[in-house]
Amino acid sequence: MTKNYLKFWGTRGSCAVSGPEYAKFGGNTCALEIRYEDQVVIIDTGTGIRPLGRELLKQKVQNIHLFLSHSHWDHLVGFPFFDPIYEPGVHITIWSPPNIRRSYRELFSDLLAPEFFPVRLEQVKADLEFKTTQQKTPISLGGLTIDFHVTNHPGLTYCFKIVTPHKKIGYITDNEMLQGYHGSLDNVPPEIVDPHLGLIGFLTGCDTIVHEAQYTAAEYRQKMGWGHSSVPNAAYLLQKTGAPQWLATHHDPSHTDSDLLAIESDAKALLHQHKIACQAAWIPDSYVLAIH
Ligand SMILES: [Zn+2]
Ligand SMILES: [Zn+2]
Repeated sequence: MTKNYLKFWGTRGSCAVSGPEYAKFGGNTCALEIRYEDQVVIIDTGTGIRPLGRELLKQKVQNIHLFLSHSHWDHLVGFPFFDPIYEPGVHITIWSPPNIRRSYRELFSDLLAPEFFPVRLEQVKADLEFKTTQQKTPISLGGLTIDFHVTNHPGLTYCFKIVTPHKKIGYITDNEMLQGYHGSLDNVPPEIVDPHLGLIGFLTGCDTIVHEAQYTAAEYRQKMGWGHSSVPNAAYLLQKTGAPQWLATHHDPSHTDSDLLAIESDAKALLHQHKIACQAAWIPDSYVLAIH
């Protein structure tokens, strides 16, 4: 396996699912592993972080940078099941957006409150260091840089730009593009596009964009304002940024493998003439995205 890569350990949004109808695209919620040189970086602690943690323990990894997009359940709930937190000598830096109402340390402490879990945050064996990220203030970890931009989602939510000397990857799990829009992508009114110009600029120049497309066009009519994109509106972001590859993630828990294959072909049809390759992100062991 290549040394420098991104690997998906959770591609489901909202709620974990299981069953044979989810076997191809996976049922665990968001967790992304990034390996670059000797850096071990994770984005979000959805349920996918549980199997990732077991793998990191096997590899005796002792220093982990964990970045959080926001504090919704599907991005946090795997944390108590992340085995490295019970390992003395492990240091985990937890980077999160500034939380306006309560700090992330308090949120994690609540996640491990006696009403919810048998172990307290102060009892975990790893050394946890909480730090804050700021929009467009990149963090450099050796040759790897992680940058942040706010998305259109309830609560303060960041997306990520993962940059190496050779690749730029956008990673956006929760973002409602073109809020409330159902029309043709050829003539989107400026007042619908304008709120998204900052994000489009931030992601322009990426080699790959991983971005959600949680709802079909028909589903989006019922779920406007919930913080997630329709397939066509997400395709618009790809068109505008000009990235040659789109991996869709944060799959709706109601979408089976066959639904996601249908979404994949809708995306391909929307982006074919723009020469943008589309795929729904999935989790087989062999699938990694090289970043060297
Ligand atoms: Zn989410
Ligand atoms: Zn969310």
